[in-house]
Amino acid sequence: MRPNNHSATTRLRLRITAAAETIVRGGHPWLFADSIHEMNRAGASGELAIIFDRKDKFLAVGLFDPDSPIRVRILHAGRPQTLDAAWWQAHLAQALARRAGLFDATTTGYRLIHGESDGWPGLVLDRYDTTLVLKLYTAAWLPRLDEILALIKERIASGRLVLRLSRNIQPFADKQFHRRDGQVLFGSTPTGQVIFSENGVRFEADVLRGQKTGFFLDQRENRAEIEKLARGKKVLNAFSFSGGFSVYAARGGAKSVTDLDISAHALESAKRNFTLNLNLPGVAASRHETVQADAFAWLAAGGDKFDLVVLDPPSLAKRAVEREGALRAYERLNAQGIAKLARDGILVAGSCSAHVSAAEFFDAVRRAAMKSGRKFAELKTLQHPPDHPAGFKEAEYLKVIYLKFAA
Ligand code: SAH
Repeated sequence: MRPNNHSATTRLRLRITAAAETIVRGGHPWLFADSIHEMNRAGASGELAIIFDRKDKFLAVGLFDPDSPIRVRILHAGRPQTLDAAWWQAHLAQALARRAGLFDATTTGYRLIHGESDGWPGLVLDRYDTTLVLKLYTAAWLPRLDEILALIKERIASGRLVLRLSRNIQPFADKQFHRRDGQVLFGSTPTGQVIFSENGVRFEADVLRGQKTGFFLDQRENRAEIEKLARGKKVLNAFSFSGGFSVYAARGGAKSVTDLDISAHALESAKRNFTLNLNLPGVAASRHETVQADAFAWLAAGGDKFDLVVLDPPSLAKRAVEREGALRAYERLNAQGIAKLARDGILVAGSCSAHVSAAEFFDAVRRAAMKSGRKFAELKTLQHPPDHPAGFKEAEYLKVIYLKFAA
């Protein structure tokens, strides 16, 4: 990658605390502002910062971000390395190689770059058929966007690329770089939803405005599990979003599927996703219902029982201090889900809160199961799929547990 306009000045050099040195040496991708005890000059957003150890030896190099508490996002640690064009090409090739052989032609929607855990901190690249969606979670990539685009174009065949920006960087991106969330950076602007396929199921993705990059690609493995469990069952998919679990359940032979979400917009998408797959016999035969309601209130209100209940709420702990409260909320929510289960029912309980560990979450769900007084067996737990690797503790957000109740 071309050095940016700081090449005329001296390179940005940092010295960090002993504790941070150990952390960076151990491969952690974040250097927090309060770990830096010496800088040779002020740094600008997106320039490369070189981190030296106590003996003045090269430790790592990363993207500087003066506006974030994560002051440097590490791109490379270890042996001294210049991040030249060849390095960037190899860096992208490495992420792509990780996906080689994972998907056949029946799956055209998956993640190509998963941020920090792929060595691209704060950057996500998803593929939806011939559409690429590049999502930035840090402003530090903005000055490098043109170079990144050139790299992507050179290496990945696609028809268009949509830029998505996390909310916190949108004002800065617009003001400084005239980049906007949902901007199409090459190819035509999609006229509607982008259609892709996953294990032969067709889905739409709202790539311009939808949550994340338009679809929850991370739940692919759980969708496939649910398909296997659904035959003959009456299924409740709470926090359904666009009904991903439901279409798979229907293909797997579910008698009926009910999508429950607070968002009318999400449920409209769920209906369209069902319609998109009416060519599949299971989907055509299954009854599909949508309920627009607050899931916590709806579950508490009693009513019908279900044979399979999926609970995949939005993150209940957005910040670390909310962890305890979130654990109680997960336990309460899953107790309500268990109460909705018919005899021999199965609970599929998910959490996407990075501030709650897998062990803590699984225990909260098991506690709810124990307190229900019903006999149950644990079928399995699943975490990150291979196209969404989690390379360090803070990256582990996804966890799902499957419990089967005997009575
Ligand atoms: N399970 C989905 C992803 C869930 S995202 C999938 O696999 O694709 C979380 C969803 O919960 C969003 O669609 C959001 O609209 C919905 N939601 C948030 N709060 C809710 C509430 N109180 N009651 C019902 N749905 C809610």
